[in-house]
Amino acid sequence: MMYLKDKGIALIEEDYRKRIIPDIKKAFVQESPGFPPDFLVALAKSGILASSGALDDSFLDALLSRPIEELAAKWHWAGMYLDMGRMVCCYGREREKWKAACAKTGHARRPYYREKRREYLDCHHIDALMAEYPLRTVMPQQACGSDREMLILLKAYEAVFEGWNGCLRRFVKYEMIDAGLKIQVKQAFRLEVCPYCNRQYITSFQVSGKQHVTADLDHFYPQSLFPLLALSLYNLVPVCLVCNRMVKKDSFGNIWNPYRAGFSDLVHFEVDDPQNVQALVGSNDEFILKLKNDAPEGSSEFEVTESTIRFFGLEEIYQSHKQFVRELLHKKHAYNETYLRQLQDIFQKAGVSMADANLILYGFEMDKDRIGERILGKLTYDIVGDSRRQHP
Ligand SMILES: [Zn+2]
Repeated sequence: MMYLKDKGIALIEEDYRKRIIPDIKKAFVQESPGFPPDFLVALAKSGILASSGALDDSFLDALLSRPIEELAAKWHWAGMYLDMGRMVCCYGREREKWKAACAKTGHARRPYYREKRREYLDCHHIDALMAEYPLRTVMPQQACGSDREMLILLKAYEAVFEGWNGCLRRFVKYEMIDAGLKIQVKQAFRLEVCPYCNRQYITSFQVSGKQHVTADLDHFYPQSLFPLLALSLYNLVPVCLVCNRMVKKDSFGNIWNPYRAGFSDLVHFEVDDPQNVQALVGSNDEFILKLKNDAPEGSSEFEVTESTIRFFGLEEIYQSHKQFVRELLHKKHAYNETYLRQLQDIFQKAGVSMADANLILYGFEMDKDRIGERILGKLTYDIVGDSRRQHP
């Protein structure tokens, strides 16, 4: 998962807003007479609806082109929407984690689950949700004590959330981005490699005057679950077709958001469990490729990193690159220290820079800041290793 700096968004946001906002406004005017009054009251209370009954312009600007956290912090209702959505969508996966933790550590399940349910509700600001949308059927205290009560609470909020989504789907529609604008968004970042997997090219090309880009726009928060964010530029990630259609699809989890951070500094690839010494020098591929989590164990970074690796099946997918790793190991062995020094002399005399020399030897400049721009850049960088990046 590579960090996407948001400068690509700055290039297109103005044009994007100009083209999308009139469509949202028009759809809202047409559809809002059919919306439940409590939905409209909630929007108005939060300043999302102006006194004229129209959608507030600054809200629409932020909805389309400001970071999601900023949107949530500035418009109270949007913050509640995200808290509620994440709370009702992620419980099943969280529970699986607690189960695994109990099996691993031997924790007594009952008190552990009680504590974790409390943490889960607190981190989704349950007290604020209850203050605005009180439940008659169950209180958070009861929900912490039993899974049955917890599910009742989540079901109740799911009904509220789905009610809002039913309205949102009628005026915030992904189809409002036409084909030409989608291409502009995909090209804005000038990505050449998928930021999710770092193993597939993203290519722009023209056929018969028609522009194509070999990327999908993934909704980081799936539009099926979070329609409010269906058009947010900070929710659209240009990624390879494999990552979008076969791996991530419509799912959502506790994973790194590429607009907030990457995790390339928190993990490293290494060759593990070599079956014989020949495997270590690249003579065969009788080893396992591991993606190690370097974040401090027990930290939230560790958990999110672990969950991202599992979510994208990165360790499993990267096993298909063992031949590539074998070749890197073979080169590392072949370019021993003496030979590297000789090469260094030759390259220096020929006026070849260190980066170009690495490009010749390993197919990558070994520039840490360019890992995301090279296919298998992270894998190459880690396997070649620190000592070799200084050479020739
Ligand atoms: Zn990918």
